Amino acid sequence: MLKTVFFTLLWIASALAQPAASSKPPSVRFDIGALDKSADPCVDFYQFACGGWLKANPIPSDQARWGRFDELMDRNRETLHAILEEAAKPSAGRDSVTRQIGDYYAACMDEKGLDARGLASLEPDLARIRDLKDKAALAGLVARLHRIGVDVLFQFSSGQDFKDSGEVIAQADQGGIGLPDRDYYLKDDPKSAELRDKYVVHMQRMMQLLGEKPERAKADAAAIMRLETELAKGSLDLVSRRDPEKQYHRLGAKDFAALSPSFAWSQYYAAVGAPEFQSLNAVWPDFFKALDTQLRATSLEDWRAYLTWHLVHAQARILPAAFVSENFDYFGKTLTGAKEIRPRWKRCVDFTDAELGEALGRKFAERTFGKQGKERTLAMVQAIEKSLGEDIQQLSWMSPATKQQAAIKLQAIANKIGYPDTWRDYSSITIKRDDPLGNDLRANEFDFQRWMNKIGKPVDRAEWQMTPPTVNAYYDPQMNNINFPAGILQPPFFDNDLDDAVNFGGVGMVIGHELTHGFDDQGRQFDAVGNLKDWWTEADAKEFETRATCLADEYSKFSVAPGANVNGRLTLGENTADNGGVRVALMALETVLANRQRPEIGGFTPEQRFFLAYGQIWCENEREEAARLSVQTNPHSPARFRVNGVVQNMPEFQKAFSCKAGQPMTPVNSCRVW
Ligand SMILES: [Zn+2]
Repeated sequence: MLKTVFFTLLWIASALAQPAASSKPPSVRFDIGALDKSADPCVDFYQFACGGWLKANPIPSDQARWGRFDELMDRNRETLHAILEEAAKPSAGRDSVTRQIGDYYAACMDEKGLDARGLASLEPDLARIRDLKDKAALAGLVARLHRIGVDVLFQFSSGQDFKDSGEVIAQADQGGIGLPDRDYYLKDDPKSAELRDKYVVHMQRMMQLLGEKPERAKADAAAIMRLETELAKGSLDLVSRRDPEKQYHRLGAKDFAALSPSFAWSQYYAAVGAPEFQSLNAVWPDFFKALDTQLRATSLEDWRAYLTWHLVHAQARILPAAFVSENFDYFGKTLTGAKEIRPRWKRCVDFTDAELGEALGRKFAERTFGKQGKERTLAMVQAIEKSLGEDIQQLSWMSPATKQQAAIKLQAIANKIGYPDTWRDYSSITIKRDDPLGNDLRANEFDFQRWMNKIGKPVDRAEWQMTPPTVNAYYDPQMNNINFPAGILQPPFFDNDLDDAVNFGGVGMVIGHELTHGFDDQGRQFDAVGNLKDWWTEADAKEFETRATCLADEYSKFSVAPGANVNGRLTLGENTADNGGVRVALMALETVLANRQRPEIGGFTPEQRFFLAYGQIWCENEREEAARLSVQTNPHSPARFRVNGVVQNMPEFQKAFSCKAGQPMTPVNSCRVW
């Protein structure tokens, strides 16, 4: 389980996308040969930087998207694969960490055994649902399902209090739907209606695989759809969820319970394993009112169908083959456009990373990331922090008072690089070599309890929300820290053999991006210690909003398919981070280059290579289905616009490539926040 509220990533591997599957190990490096020199960089810089790569790298059939991030993920996965194959060999010499990841992986790989075992490990929970006798017993059952990772009715976890980041409190949030976002239930265009129809058919088929008769399965699927639609209507939309004020409602336990009086909350808290607490954050209180209406209106029979569907849906990836295939048919093929499922070993590597991530990641870090890697990255982080500090001080639109507060916040950002200092101990999870499904349920339960145990305890600032092999990075506004897993600190992001210009355009931009998140439309509302607290003068906040609106309008004009435009407000934080990140990375590069020889390499100046490296990390082909899914749910802009959207706003780019005023990459109205 990830932190559910604020947590800003560098990019998002859509939860539904199917990562990685080329047969040859890719050469994952900055590549002048991948340019399209027939394109004019001042007309379409993305095409110029990526055209050759895009042509040479069609999307593999088991992928929804294929880009340079995926290439690197593929390479990391090869390393993990080697670690796991070795760990899976039963030998007396295996240490306990090796044994756990090895046995988890071996069980997952045993597809025949899994098919033979059928639903045996799920049966006790299926029986609990069948035996649900009255609505009063629902709370205990929901608690059990939450503990094993099934998203029903609502979500329950813990998190830092928004206004007192040193305190960890319980948190209840909207949830309980099967489609990727509430809008999928509510939009009335033909495409959305078609996806809904197919979703209902998918649910029906899953219920039939469980043994229901077709007529009954059809009626159940319709009832589930009705219920989920009501939950979706009660949910807050994604753009509003970017506003921290809308997500903070600290209520006494009694006041919270009064929102859904039909649910036995004390019974739930006891069964879910939460310590006693007096108050909690009800992220979106209206949702719990809508939930109460459904608790009263929905029949026991429909609740049983709904819970059964979600239990099977949550575990579908690790059920017998017929379930896996039906699940892929909808959530892979229909929603993302992937043509075939990934090879089993790739899926099992990813599941091990998801369930026992710091045990596997520990072995990964030992193999790939030395002390040197940590020091080198830290030096770059410090250089870019210095540039951001200077950038803020030079801003024409911000008053000295706000600048001073911004400097305090920047100073306080903690840097976490590579992997955690102490590794999570999974030894209490029983991993059996012949029970992949049971392993998954027990690992989910361990993770859920971990979040429960935090309630009322001091914040653990050393903890990571990403595993070491992850090709991503994040800024956490409540911790006020930036995090760079070992998995991304490699080519094409960081390449020891290449010039500074390329590395600042790669990992330098990633660092600048995460730092800027502390000052985007969302991050700027949190102070140096991670509290939701306004440190801006009114006039400066207004100036910020004007500039942010310019960016939102710019990106809203970008389109990926007919009727599918980028949502400038949903992506505002990420676009702000991209624009600021590239700017401060370039500033840091100029500092390094000052008083040095500036030879052209491969026919390009250092500034040109900087922009090309930035462009190239985003080279990506994407299927239309996946692109449509992405603009609706992903807070990041599509790759092409992450590149062209930024360079259009940079006079430094126009100078580097000698673009003329009025060309597409040199628009008359450009935007700048940071
Ligand atoms: Zn980001």
